[in-house]
Amino acid sequence: MSLKRYSRQRELIYQAVRDTQEHPTAEMVYRRLKPANPSLSLGTVYRNLNLLAEEGLLVRMPFSVERYDANTSPHTHFRCNSCGEIFDLDIPYDRSVDTIAASADPRFQVECHDLIFRGLCRQCRETPPEI
Ligand SMILES: [Zn+2]
Ligand SMILES: [Zn+2]
Repeated sequence: MSLKRYSRQRELIYQAVRDTQEHPTAEMVYRRLKPANPSLSLGTVYRNLNLLAEEGLLVRMPFSVERYDANTSPHTHFRCNSCGEIFDLDIPYDRSVDTIAASADPRFQVECHDLIFRGLCRQCRETPPEI
C-alpha cells in the first residue's frame, strides 16, 4: 500500500468521525465509508482510528466497544442506557473537580477528568419499549 493511499484513507476516516455527533465505533465508521470506498477493510479502519488517537486527533472512549470523539477538548457526555448512544452535554467543564482530585491524593498528577451521565435519551423516552 502506497503512503499516499494510506494518508488518504486516514483523512477519510478522520473526516467520518468529525462529521458526526455519534461518537462512532470502528464498525460504525466502516459501515459509513464502505459503500463509497469498496476497497476499505475493517482492519484499516481500526488501525487508523488508533493512529489518530495516538496522534491526539481523536479521543478513544473506554466503553466495552471503544468509541471515538473528534472533539479533543475536555467535555461532558451523556450515555443512553437503552440504545447506548453517546451525546455531548452542553455544560461547562468543571476545573475545580481536577483541583480537588489533585489535592486529595499527591500520588497523582491530574490532567483532566471524564464525566459521563447515564439515563434515557429523548428518543428512547418517547418510544415505548417493544414487547
Ligand atoms: Zn436512547
Ligand atoms: Zn464528545
